[in-house]
Amino acid sequence: MQLHELSVREIASGVRGRKFSALEVFEDCLGRSAACEGKVSALITTTADAGRQRARRIDERIARGEDPGPLAGVPVILKDNICTRGVRTTAGSRILGDWAPPYDATVWALLQDAGAVLLGKSNMDEFAMGNTCGTSAFGPTANPWDVARVPGGSSGGSAAAVAAGYVPFALGSDTGGSIRQPASYCGICGLKPTYGMVSRYGLIAYGSSLDQIGPFTRNVGDMALVMGLLARQDPKDSTSTCGTRGECFAELQDDLKGRRVALVRDFRDFTLDPGISEAMKKTIAALERAGAEMMEVSLPTVGRYAVACYYAIAASEAHTNLARFDGVRYGYTVNSSAGMKDMFQEVRSHGFGSEVKSRIIAGTCLTEPVRSEQYYVAATRVRTLIAREFAEAFENADCILQPVTPSLAPKIGEVDDDAMKGYESDLYTLPVNMAGLPGYSFRAGTDADSGLPVGLQLVGPRWSDGRLLSAGLALEKILGAPVIAGGGN
Ligand code: GLN
Repeated sequence: MQLHELSVREIASGVRGRKFSALEVFEDCLGRSAACEGKVSALITTTADAGRQRARRIDERIARGEDPGPLAGVPVILKDNICTRGVRTTAGSRILGDWAPPYDATVWALLQDAGAVLLGKSNMDEFAMGNTCGTSAFGPTANPWDVARVPGGSSGGSAAAVAAGYVPFALGSDTGGSIRQPASYCGICGLKPTYGMVSRYGLIAYGSSLDQIGPFTRNVGDMALVMGLLARQDPKDSTSTCGTRGECFAELQDDLKGRRVALVRDFRDFTLDPGISEAMKKTIAALERAGAEMMEVSLPTVGRYAVACYYAIAASEAHTNLARFDGVRYGYTVNSSAGMKDMFQEVRSHGFGSEVKSRIIAGTCLTEPVRSEQYYVAATRVRTLIAREFAEAFENADCILQPVTPSLAPKIGEVDDDAMKGYESDLYTLPVNMAGLPGYSFRAGTDADSGLPVGLQLVGPRWSDGRLLSAGLALEKILGAPVIAGGGN
């Protein structure tokens, strides 16, 4: 087995136990990324030199008898909307150009303290708006299982990199599905934590009340290990409310006896790809074998209004969050002799891509004083109903099993041509963000026709993240853990 094929846990214990060095691991992972990048294009920036330097420093610490931490020498990739001091951070947009943040996001500070080594910053839909990775100003990323297909989005680069074996884990952000959907298209594990579990400090905001950072891994044990380090109360983020709840990741239990797992009755009519229906059947059988009780719940408001309501709220928050990219506070600067207004116009017209512009325009209209009561405020009321509907469902059920998307990874170019189809395909993921719940996406099987991976997700009440991963562990023991994709080779 080559070093880049190892898990987070195996790398950390090998480096700490001097079986191999952090530098050897880093070089092997870098070699793997170089072998795939020509076809996959998962990275916007590769931090080869800085990473080598850091790996050497970790090896020196080990030689001195120090312990660099639970992620000693583990290479990681961060989505390019997570701020890294001195390393270009673009959010997939031309407007940020070569911006290098003067500070680290809290998640990156925590990973560094634990001994992780940065390999690069990953491609993403511009400002995390999209679900194919195709709205990036840096061109598309390909799915390492079939390079003619999308890896999903918006965190597609991070998902593709983990699936192709560049690194054993990466971070993404999920506003309406951007971790779970690419995890599912790329056949790996992805967690969107409970809102407030992971600090958003240093995450370039899209929809602040929906955004949450989370990991991609190739097994559930690594997911729990990384989450145990990230789930920390952060005084720099006033919406960080996790307190000591990070402890829920300390020990996973694979015993599902008596656990009540629900299917959503109202989603049944949505036409599912046959590969996904097949995976649902297999997973239900696996859950029953592990002792779970299957039941049904009803989420009528979610089924009917969630998509419209999410896009109204997300666009409204985005238009406010993106106002700071004006060429003065953030964004590249142009010399305009015609005055401030022309300068703003020039920077924003040229700097933003069309998907971002359409969301800014929608958000501006939806929050205009004369319309906001009818649209934005109405959407926030429906959001409360959605959260209540989930809360009622969880009075009877411990968690919900559902698809992540209605279809498997589409061909590159297919979804971008039909925005509405793309928006509707988020039906299974975005209600989870609206209610602030955790969602865990895992590989449930392989489509018999296309050979593409099929993902499903478990959704639970707020702060049940650890229990979702426990159920994930039981399923992984029956269904098998993700494997590394060919990456176009
Ligand atoms: N596809 C959704 C959107 O474009 C979700 C994106 C995300 O989770 N960042 O808003």
